Amino acid sequence: MSVFTAPDFAGHEQVVFASDPACGLRAIIAIHDTTRGPALGGCRMWHYASEADAVADVLRLSQGMTYKSALAELPLGGGKAVVLGDPAHDKSEALWRALGRAIDRLGGHYVTAEDVGTSVADLETVRTATAHVAGIAEGGSGDPSPATAFGVFMGMQAAVRHRLGGADVTGIRVALQGLGHVGLCLAGHLAEAGAELVVADLDPGRVDAAVERFGARRAEPAAIHAEDVEVFAPCALGAILNDRTIPELRAPVVAGSANNQLAEARHGGALAEHGVLYAPDYAINAGGIINVSHESTRTGRPYDRQAAYAHIARIHDTLARIFEAADAEGIPTSVAADRLAEARLRQAA
Ligand code: NAD
Repeated sequence: MSVFTAPDFAGHEQVVFASDPACGLRAIIAIHDTTRGPALGGCRMWHYASEADAVADVLRLSQGMTYKSALAELPLGGGKAVVLGDPAHDKSEALWRALGRAIDRLGGHYVTAEDVGTSVADLETVRTATAHVAGIAEGGSGDPSPATAFGVFMGMQAAVRHRLGGADVTGIRVALQGLGHVGLCLAGHLAEAGAELVVADLDPGRVDAAVERFGARRAEPAAIHAEDVEVFAPCALGAILNDRTIPELRAPVVAGSANNQLAEARHGGALAEHGVLYAPDYAINAGGIINVSHESTRTGRPYDRQAAYAHIARIHDTLARIFEAADAEGIPTSVAADRLAEARLRQAA
C-alpha cells in the first residue's frame, strides 16, 4: 500500500499508527497541517472493511479539518484519529486509555474530540491519559452538537437569502434527513423560526418526536432528498449528494450538517449544473469546532458561551461570501469554499 503517493495523503505532516495488543487498540492518528495551530479533529471508531479504507478515511477527514478551521479563521490546524473496531462491541476503558497515551506522545500537536462512534464518556476516559482532549464536559464546552446545529441554522439562512431572496426562513419548507444530535436541534431552531419541516430518520422514535414536538411531516428515508421543498438539509450520512440523488433533487438549496456530503469532488459541479445552491459542508457545519476553540484550555479564559455563539453566527457571512465568489467567478460553491480556505491558510503561513 502506498502512503506518500496516495491521493489522500495531501502533504500530511505526520501520520501515526498506534497499537496496543493487550487491549486490542489499532488506531491511526493523522496530522495534516499545523500552520494555524494544533491539529484538532475528532476521533472516529468504525468497523472498516479494510485497513486501507481506514487510512483513506483518516487522511481525508484530517485534511478536511485543516480547511474547516482555516475557513472559520480558528487558531487550529487539521487532524483526525480513527480507531479500527466495532463501537458496539470493541470499546473498553483500557482501549481509551491506550489511545490517550498514544495521543499524549504527540505532545499536543494533535487534540482529539468526539466523532462518529465515540461519546463524551469515551473521551472522558481518554482524558485520564492525556490533556489533549476537547469538547468534554469538565472544563470544556461539552457536546458540540447544539453549536453545530446553530451554525447550520445561520448558514441555511444565508443560503435562503442568496437563492430565494427572503428575509428569513418563515414559511420555507425544509426536508431534514437525520434527526440525531444535530438534526433534532436544528429542527427546533427551524420550527421556532416558522419553517415547515419534512423529516426522515431510520429510527422511527426520532421521527415520532419531531412530528409531535414540531408538527413535522414524515417522509421515507430513501426519498427525503427528493421532496418538493425549498431546502434539503442532510444531517445523517456522507456521500448523499451523488450521481443518483442529484438529478432527483427538487430543492433549490442544499444546506445541512453532514460531513463529506459530496460523494466525489466533481459533484459540487453537478449540483451547480442542476441549479442547486450548495452550502459547502465544512463551511456550514463548523459551529462545533468554533465552540471548542472557545474552551478555556484553548483561550486561557473561562468559556464564554455568548462570545462562542457570536463567532458561530459568522458562518452566515462566510457562506454569503462563498456564494458571491462562486457567482462572480462562475465556479461551484465547493470550489469557492476551497479557495477561500486555502487563502486563509496561506495568510497564516
Ligand atoms: P447522530 O449519529 O447523532 O445522528 C445521525 C442520525 O441520522 C441518526 O438519528 C440516524 O438514525 C440517522 N440516519 C442515519 N442514516 C440515515 C438515513 N439513511 N436516512 C435518514 N436518517 C438516517 O449524528 P450527529 O452528531 O447528529 O451528526 C449528523 C451529521 O453531522 C454527521 O454526518 C456528522 O458527521 C455531522 N457533523 C456533526 C457534528 C456534531 O457536532 N455532532 C459536527 C460536524 C458535523
